[in-house]
Amino acid sequence: MKILVVGGAGYIGSHMVKRLLQGGAEVVTLDNLSGGYRDAVCGGTFIYGDIADSSLLSRIFSTHAFAAVMHFASYIQVGESVQEPAKYYQNNVSNTLNLLDMMVAFEVKRFIFSSTAAIFGEPQYTPIDEQHPKNPINPYGRSKWMVEQALGDYDRAYGLKSTCLRYFNAAGADPDGEMGERHDPETHLIPLVLQAASGRREQIRVFGRDYDTPDGTCIRDYIHVTDLAEAHWLALAHLLAGGDSCAFNLGNGNGFSVQEVIDAARQVTGKPIPCADEQRRAGDPARLVADSRRIREQLGWQPRYADLDKIIADAWRWETR
Ligand code: UDP
Repeated sequence: MKILVVGGAGYIGSHMVKRLLQGGAEVVTLDNLSGGYRDAVCGGTFIYGDIADSSLLSRIFSTHAFAAVMHFASYIQVGESVQEPAKYYQNNVSNTLNLLDMMVAFEVKRFIFSSTAAIFGEPQYTPIDEQHPKNPINPYGRSKWMVEQALGDYDRAYGLKSTCLRYFNAAGADPDGEMGERHDPETHLIPLVLQAASGRREQIRVFGRDYDTPDGTCIRDYIHVTDLAEAHWLALAHLLAGGDSCAFNLGNGNGFSVQEVIDAARQVTGKPIPCADEQRRAGDPARLVADSRRIREQLGWQPRYADLDKIIADAWRWETR
């Protein structure tokens, strides 16, 4: 079973490559290294390149017979997507369509797509299930929702079967310490908190203490990256067994506030972690928690590392490697 992992040198993609190799798959990683690292790819074949490059894609698809494609290569910064929407629509939408068209041309009909809780926009209720209305409030969320909609059309017209996995807050690092989160610039809470713990950063800024939550800070659903990779593995098995296209929300179903994350990180690291209060960050909903019952029921997914302390401990090991 040969799988093309696009964006396999990035944070989630690199954990996926490891899971695929452990499961006995042959892996070809395609990555332009714009946000990923060559040394994060722990095995298989690595190809440096971009999905915008049709002739490269054509060469890859004519050389390898893929059972499925997994697509992790996208830009992910909400604020940047507001400032530079063209970058997001070009890469996350247009280049993804280029990849899909190549799949259709070479009759590779199974696709796993990294989607996001950002497609829902401001929650109308929590926890958020798959039926929740899709009202993305920034170009990043819109770019992902556009691809989800295109995938529905590609299934109806071309029989391309897909699974969309809508991540809530991916966090943590490989429990064996082989790989972890390395965004530049880093914008995510847990790695930033741990940089403040290790001294790489002076302090952690808390964006708003006046939300309608018990301690006033925003609540998010943190999911261990290894549990995310496992969900992709199950989604792949589902498609390879002839399963239908589907979409799943992926989180632990437990919300933790920014303050709770900082407190847990102080506990796990034994460091003081200085904080500074800041204004709210634009576009942050007060509470984002996933209802992940569908993937548990339909694919038998069970998070192994749902405990926040474990997520932070694995991220801490990576931070202090
Ligand atoms: N956050 C914060 N300080 C930071 C980074 C993030 O207070 O330096 C907050 C952010 O406002 C949000 C939560 O932490 O409420 C999670 O943010 P992150 O960027 O990790 O993920 P998001 O939920 O935006 O995808």
